[in-house]
Amino acid sequence: MISTTATELSPESGEATGGIGGFATRAIRTGHQRTPEGEHGEPIFTTSSFVFASAAEAAARFAGEQSGNIYSRFTNPTVRAFEERLASLESGERCVATASGMAAILAVCMGLLKTGDRILSSRSLFGSTTLLFNKYLARFGIETDYVPLSDPGAWEAAIHPRTRLLFCETPSNPLTEMVDLRRLADIAHRHGCLLAVDNCFCTPALQRPLELGADLVIHSATKYLDGQGRCVGGAVVGDHKLVGEEVYGVLRTAGPTLSPFNAWVFLKGLETLDLRMQAHARGAAQLADWLLAQPAVERVYYPGLPEHPQHHLLGTQQRNGGGIVAFDVRGGREAAWRVIDSTRLLSITANLGDVKTTITHPATTTHGRLSPEDRATAGIGEGLIRVAVGLEEGADIQTDLARGLAGL
Ligand SMILES: *Cc1c(COP(=O)(O)O)cnc(C)c1O
Repeated sequence: MISTTATELSPESGEATGGIGGFATRAIRTGHQRTPEGEHGEPIFTTSSFVFASAAEAAARFAGEQSGNIYSRFTNPTVRAFEERLASLESGERCVATASGMAAILAVCMGLLKTGDRILSSRSLFGSTTLLFNKYLARFGIETDYVPLSDPGAWEAAIHPRTRLLFCETPSNPLTEMVDLRRLADIAHRHGCLLAVDNCFCTPALQRPLELGADLVIHSATKYLDGQGRCVGGAVVGDHKLVGEEVYGVLRTAGPTLSPFNAWVFLKGLETLDLRMQAHARGAAQLADWLLAQPAVERVYYPGLPEHPQHHLLGTQQRNGGGIVAFDVRGGREAAWRVIDSTRLLSITANLGDVKTTITHPATTTHGRLSPEDRATAGIGEGLIRVAVGLEEGADIQTDLARGLAGL
């Protein structure tokens, strides 16, 4: 069960993952093993390889008879600190950090799938993930079927005898649709499949899919885990077998590993994750309410609104509505572009999860490669705007949007 406040996490969650205390404590304390220098802050180990006391020790490390560092493609203490901290926050046994969110998804597919296997995925998906599935994995004989995210019956009906992996993002980008993860995990397991959840929008501060039955959690650490738009990175969390052996094996061999510097940035990002996610969600809820009252706004998409179709999942699956709000303006693309171009504070960029509020026109950017029909099916209209609410004053964000909305 997900707790309503982060500190109510059951003590078992902490013990199972080697961490001590509640969520906020583990976000700050887990993972750092102090060196003999007695440093208080986590050090960055900028070293590509590690030395051995003797030829015999080198042989033992390479043979796997002795644990310890060999080479930073395999392990690095700063990267490991980030992995242990994130594993603890997601209530997973193991985490493997990757060079990007996309590298995390690729490593999962390479580690767990083979030619002939099928993926069953939600239709609303990060653009590069769709491309990875349809263009690149398809070349190796791994096909993907797509279903509407929020309908568990559609998922079950679409499972093929060769389906091996169910994959989703919840809430979706940009319309914030959600799926009941407990039901989806149950469906996956009844059919002998694994469930992987891209938890980028919520982070473990708001939703912990492994506690709801998922087998794998995937992150683009680039977004909220960093939180200040500095570094690209990713991670996979799950159990010792799937992540510690299969996914780690791909990382160690194929090499899309996270750099120690980026790991350190994310490690520091995790320390404030809980506070930031609550503040992002507060700001987004406030903005959603304000948008509802604007005459030029036709519809607002935010899980925290009672009219959201999966609003009932808040509190049991997802702690609050999160930091992303989307809305339709009257007047289509021209009107949406006018609102975007009238901003002076908000950043026109497709990134999200930053302290700086960002604004995007999905139909011509993140979802621009879809055909007009596919966009219509997905519900992404020409008047749709997505705002990833940052941590500036709410009144200033409203003023910035009001300028363009007033002119419509
Ligand atoms: C950004 C993003 C990714 C890809 O992450 P990168 O770090 O850019 O490779 C994957 N999934 C979602 C939901 C994202 O927003």
